[in-house]
Amino acid sequence: MEISSLENNALISWVIPCFNEADVVEVTIKRIKEVIAKSNSIYKHEIIFIDDGSTDQTKDIIKSIASKDSRIKLLVLSRNFGHQAALQAGLNFAYGNAVIIIDADLQDPPEIANKMIKLWEEGYEVIYGKRESRRSESVFKRISAKFFYKLVRYLSDFDIPLDTGDFRLIDRRIVNALKLMPEKSRYIRGLISWTGFRQTYIAYERDERFAGKTKYSLRKMINLALDGLTAFSKTPLRLATYFGLIAACVATLGILYVLLIRFLTSTWVPGWATVTLAILMTSSVQLFCLGIIGEYIGRNYLENKDRPLYLLDEKVGFDS
Ligand code: UDP
Ligand code: MG
Repeated sequence: MEISSLENNALISWVIPCFNEADVVEVTIKRIKEVIAKSNSIYKHEIIFIDDGSTDQTKDIIKSIASKDSRIKLLVLSRNFGHQAALQAGLNFAYGNAVIIIDADLQDPPEIANKMIKLWEEGYEVIYGKRESRRSESVFKRISAKFFYKLVRYLSDFDIPLDTGDFRLIDRRIVNALKLMPEKSRYIRGLISWTGFRQTYIAYERDERFAGKTKYSLRKMINLALDGLTAFSKTPLRLATYFGLIAACVATLGILYVLLIRFLTSTWVPGWATVTLAILMTSSVQLFCLGIIGEYIGRNYLENKDRPLYLLDEKVGFDS
């Protein structure tokens, strides 16, 4: 960041996707306002909420607060498009020199943002939050997250940091880069790693959700995981080849064995077990490989349709 833009009253945008967060948004806004009040006053701030098709009062609560505070803005999507699409909607409408991405549920303490801003002033383009401990989360979530992040890192062709969510500060250059990426299956934290530039992190303790339950259903988590895996690696496709090779080796041994028994002994019997096992084995390997290929073809199919990532129903607090 150049000093000149600091002097020019640089703008910092907060981007906060919300899906049925009526129980928390009021407190979230209060906490963020406190953080802003304590921060360096040379910056202006805007706080952009994205209502991702909530069916509760989220939208109304934000609207009523926005009517009294011009810093607060709201984008209402026409239905639930998912966290990553909602996040991108916010990024598309954020004008800040830097953008802070944060969840609505206060699991990521907004107070860390001021430290992120300091690092941004030092010249980093990406400052992500690294979760030191996830004590407050369920054992299943902790184990599945650990396994998933390790797998993505192992499979992808470049470094995606472990144990990070979308909580981070990104410079305008990164926001612009994200806007250049047309993909619909978005795994934004991976796309941000992909951009390069100067990236660093701040370690923090992930708090408990302030209120309500997780909005990431198991289905949404699996979708995100598969988006992350397929977007950054072709390795799973190669698995089909490996499985095929291994299956061929095992099959060769099996064939030799069957032939030996058949021609060199008199104890051969119709091999019900062998046949059944062979069928089970090969068909499951084939189905698995087909599934992997399907994941890629399915994504290709969706990308090719080129539908918009989300549709807007309403904009509140924006100039145009
Ligand atoms: N979220 C969203 N759309 C969705 C699911 C989640 O905008 O379809 C938002 C949610 O309101 C929250 C953030 O994404 O601000 C992270 O979700 P959550 O806290 O439920 O996930 P977790 O922390 O349990 O992984
Ligand atoms: Mg959460």
